[in-house]
Amino acid sequence: MRAPEWDVIVLGAGPAGALAAHQLARQRLRVLLVDKRAFPRWKVCGSCLNGVALRALEEAGLGGLVDRLGGVPLVRLRLGLQGHQTELELPLGRSLSRGCLDLALCEAAVAEGTVFRMETEATVADPCPGGRQVRLRSGTASETTSARVVLVATGLGSPGLNPAIPIQAKVQARSRVGAGCQVDAGASRYGRGTIHMAIGRHGYVGLVRTEADELNLAAAFDRTHLITAGGPAVAAAEVLAESGFDPLPQASGAAWLATPALTFSSSPPVAERLLLLGDAAGYVEPFTGEGMGWALLGALAAVPLVLQGQQQWSRELEEQWVRRHAQLIGSRQRLCRGLAFALRRPGLSRALLGVVERWPVLAAPLLHPCDGASLKPLIPEPCP
Ligand SMILES: Cc1cc2nc3c(=O)[nH]c(=O)nc-3n(C[C@H](O)[C@H](O)[C@H](O)COP(=O)(O)OP(=O)(O)OC[C@H]3O[C@@H](n4cnc5c(N)ncnc54)[C@H](O)[C@@H]3O)c2cc1C
Repeated sequence: MRAPEWDVIVLGAGPAGALAAHQLARQRLRVLLVDKRAFPRWKVCGSCLNGVALRALEEAGLGGLVDRLGGVPLVRLRLGLQGHQTELELPLGRSLSRGCLDLALCEAAVAEGTVFRMETEATVADPCPGGRQVRLRSGTASETTSARVVLVATGLGSPGLNPAIPIQAKVQARSRVGAGCQVDAGASRYGRGTIHMAIGRHGYVGLVRTEADELNLAAAFDRTHLITAGGPAVAAAEVLAESGFDPLPQASGAAWLATPALTFSSSPPVAERLLLLGDAAGYVEPFTGEGMGWALLGALAAVPLVLQGQQQWSRELEEQWVRRHAQLIGSRQRLCRGLAFALRRPGLSRALLGVVERWPVLAAPLLHPCDGASLKPLIPEPCP
């Protein structure tokens, strides 16, 4: 019997996968990180890091990374709905393009000893003695390798699991889909430091300037409307007009990318020698822009279990992950589900906007998701 080749294989090098690889390599484990795309790569995302995301990076020993990369401090949220606009102060946050952030996290993981393979698509296969097999495909070449523990951080869509693995992905009926692009918006009214959030009947569009002064657009649309409107550029232009925001003609010629369904759950987010993290473990449409915080928290929370799993895997360890994941992210996802419900109802969303305009303090649960103090006990000390 051969011992597994790796201590950990991480599928997907977004914030969840790259940070998990970084933390585990710091613990002197042999870590392989694989991603099917070439880096740096852009992905559909509002590109806003909230206080939880920044705090998680700090706890991981990467505090200051976002500022060194030129992350733009975010000071206000401008909401537009049915031609009416209001502004709320933001407590803490940075905008940073995903190309820049994700590459830097991968580089940090590599600096700790992670082996990173890009343009390699992975599929989790059967358990093997003391580990789990993973198939890797790069161009026309393919191989099978193995690890004591496999982390799946493949984001939205197919998680790269062999169909025999008993994890069910359940997409919410009428889930919205995401779309986004980056444009050169010149000296428009979409200025730095503000998240512009335009809310329409069939979706919403978030706009923010990133470190290179490009305007990042990220949207969630009703799938059927996206088709009848004739694509994301038209649907986004409609939402901007409905909310009373300035038109953005550059967006019609931009290279838009779309996502699969945004709201789904993976149940359970665990199997033998296998943990799901970040979006792959379940996601709720992104109005509050906190998915990266969830992904980074998930990565930190997984580390102690992966370390235990190196010695011996057990059902108890799987149950711990289900509990820990629900504890960290479950209540925020429930809040986001409620908000998504309200946003589909024009009367209700108008009433909510009126309430937060009058009593901005009531928006606090959305703008201050948590102070991050509870993260500390989740993070193991690095080896001496
Ligand atoms: C419209 C929109 C706006 C958003 N706005 C914000 C925001 O402002 N702030 C915020 O915090 N969050 C936001 N989010 C959420 C955020 O983008 C995600 O929650 C976050 O990227 C999740 O990180 P992850 O590491 O789990 O997955 P991802 O970042 O999606 O990374 C997954 C990686 O896995 C790779 N991969 C997939 N399958 C395989 C495979 N089989 N083998 C190898 N590699 C594979 C992919 O190439 C990808 O690089 C938004 C999302 C959307 C859709």
